[in-house]
This record gives sequence, structure tokens and C-alpha cells, in this order.
Amino acid sequence: MASNCSLLNPIHENLIIGELLMLFDDLRINKARLQNTLEESARIGKTDKNGLIRCAVTDEDKIGRDLLVKWYKECGCEVIIDEMGNIFAKRPGKNPSLGAVLSGSHFDTQKPGGRFDGILGVLGALEVMRTINENGIELERDFIIVDWTNEEGGWFAPACMGSGVWAGNHTKEWAYARKDRDGYAVFGEELERIGYKGSFPASHKEWNIYAAYELHIEQGPQLWKENIQIGAPKGILCLHWYDIWLEGTANQVGPTPMAGRNDALLAFSEMNIVVNNVAHQMGNMVGTVGEIQNYPNSRNIIPDKVHFTVDVRSWDDDHALKAWEMMKKEFEIIAERRGCILRTEETWKVAHAPFDRELYNRVVEISEQLNYSCKRMVSGAGHDMSEINQVTRGAMIFVPSVEGRSHVEVEETPYEDCERGTNVLLHCILKTANEV
Ligand SMILES: [Zn+2]
Repeated sequence: MASNCSLLNPIHENLIIGELLMLFDDLRINKARLQNTLEESARIGKTDKNGLIRCAVTDEDKIGRDLLVKWYKECGCEVIIDEMGNIFAKRPGKNPSLGAVLSGSHFDTQKPGGRFDGILGVLGALEVMRTINENGIELERDFIIVDWTNEEGGWFAPACMGSGVWAGNHTKEWAYARKDRDGYAVFGEELERIGYKGSFPASHKEWNIYAAYELHIEQGPQLWKENIQIGAPKGILCLHWYDIWLEGTANQVGPTPMAGRNDALLAFSEMNIVVNNVAHQMGNMVGTVGEIQNYPNSRNIIPDKVHFTVDVRSWDDDHALKAWEMMKKEFEIIAERRGCILRTEETWKVAHAPFDRELYNRVVEISEQLNYSCKRMVSGAGHDMSEINQVTRGAMIFVPSVEGRSHVEVEETPYEDCERGTNVLLHCILKTANEV
């Protein structure tokens, strides 16, 4: 009780303790203000179909960042821009030595993408900051909003670049040297061009972070289908990426009989089915072929080369590995039968990432206190939190995606759901930033 009293500044001192607690419990964010802020963001890089094209380090990204910085300064925050262009807005607490509570996401989009992916996490944290400010609440710990640079990786790969460097998984020099997907622009130069190559070191070692939260749309159909208001992911699935190359024999399609062909695309077609079947059979996992290049890709030449990718995800890393071994075995049989040479390579492997148990449970408890329906779940998508969670304690809050759609222009989350998720974030932050 005493710690709750200390939340409030002197204007609240004449209230009795019971009134103070009620004031605190009843605190809610301002839905109209959150909606306005989201709508203002949705004008920067707007597409004809009401989506957004606001890729990292483009002119639109700069306009978005400038607006964020303006909003942060209006909140009285200290704004810090690091070498990767990650933007931090700090609201000092009474005891900065205790370590800060960090919350945010990303302001960049796919090409094209939607108005909520990442953006809700940044603007939800901003709405929490505004709510805390206007109620004159003092927090024990610093509260910091963050906008991570280039989470999407749509123009410059890889994804989660800003948070990845911050967490120590890449060097900034490596990130600066990344070329865009057409091979022309250089990331570090573009970051400098838009004026967001800061001087503050891009490393978690420069910060004392006690806990981190990321509010995000689910990007999948579970909450929407089951009509549940809040999702509490216990962590993020493991992610295994593979690249596969097939080599057959090219020939004129007309004179070459069907028997005895070494058709690389046909072999691939069977392999695609294998990926799907294995994922179904094993359960508790997903397996996807998302990319394929076919050569020479001509209607009257039997394809002699195919490259494709396999993405395998599961909560259980060994299960995912077992699935890949099964797929590979089947691939070998098919390649042999179709007379193709098979080469496989493991491109990227990230272990499943459990979130902090206490923070994850807190998301559920607070949702229940606020009378929101809540589902314990896992995140199939990677997020900045995958990186942040490696160097501090982290958790996420999900809100429904209409029809489970994201990374598309029609991406939609009703403002009532944005409001509910932001209220959960508000109370997670109030509670965590006052733990001493
Ligand atoms: Zn996102």
C-alpha cells in the first residue's frame, strides 16, 4: 500500500489511501487520443488501399520518426538516438539506479504493410506515457519508450536489425554495410541520409533495463477466431531456415519424351507437398516453402535448376529438427527418383525463446483484473522482443488481427482492441516500474 502512495505527486497527498488505490486501479488510457495518434501515423506512407509503405531508412520513415520525436518531446522526455537509429524516449523515475522499464516496438512497415504491425506497440507506449503524465504519477523506475530501426527487413535484410545490434547479435559495421534487395543502397548511408545515425552506442550494455514489454497485434487468427481480447504469449517459436538447390537436365519440351526426364521443378513440386505433409503429420509445428526460383523459367525448356526455401517453426526445437530430418530424407528419395542432384543448407537457426515467467503471468493477471478475456499462447512470428528477451526480462501483449491477416494493406485491429491492449500495457508498466 505504501508503495502505491509513493506513485502520486503532492497534489494527491490529501487523498486517503483507499481513494488513492481506487484512483490507480481505475486508471485507463484515452481511447480517442490513441485512435487519433494511430490515424495520424496512418497518413505517413499511406497507400491507395489504406495500408502503409514506410520502409526503414526511407523518406517516409524519416517523416514518421520526426513526428515521434516531436510527440516524445511534448511529453517532456529526453530523446536519445543511438548509432543504429533506435529512438529512446526517457521519462525519469525517482530511482534511476533501479533499472528502467522499456516498452516499444517498430514504426517501419513491409512494402506494402499495414497500419498496426509494430506501430501499435510504439504508439501504445506513447499513450501510456501521456496517461501517466496527465495523472501526475511518479514512478520509482525510469520508463523508456523505444522505436527499433528496421524490424521488418523488407528493404534491407535481415529483420530486427536495430534490436539485433542492440542485443549484441550483429555488429553495427555489419549492419551499416547491408545492401538493399536490389543491391544499390547501403544501409548505413541511408540511415545517415535521413538524419538518424545517432552517436549514442547501440548496445544494451549502455542501459540498465529491469524489464521490457512489447504490445503487438497477433498477426495470426487465434484471438480473432475465438473472440478473445488479449493474448499472452509464453514465448516465440523456434525458427529454422533451410535453402535447397536442385539440379536436373534442361531440354526442349517438345521432342523430349516424358519418361527419363530430369525435371528439377517437378522434383520440387513433390518436395513442397512433403513439407506440408510432414508438418501436418508431426503436429505442433508449421512448415512452409515461401520462396522458389526456377531456371531457366521458360515455357519450352524443361527446368534444370530450382532453388527454394523451407521455414520450420515449433515450440520444441528437437521436434522441429526431427521434422527437417524427415523432410530431408524424403527429398533425397525424390531427387534420386527424378534424377536430380540435391544440395541442402541450414541458413538460420534460432532457438525457441520463452519470455520471463513473472512478466508473462503479469500480462494474464492484469487482463483478468481489467475483465478482459485472455488466452495463454505462443508467438509464431519473430519480433524485436526475440532479441531484447535475450539480454533482459521481456514479455509481450497481443491483440486480435481481423481474419488473422498482417503484412498486408487490409491489416486491421479494431480501436477497442487497441485500447484494451494499451490498458494492459499501462497497468503492466505501472506495476513493474514501481517494484523496488
Ligand atoms: Zn511487427
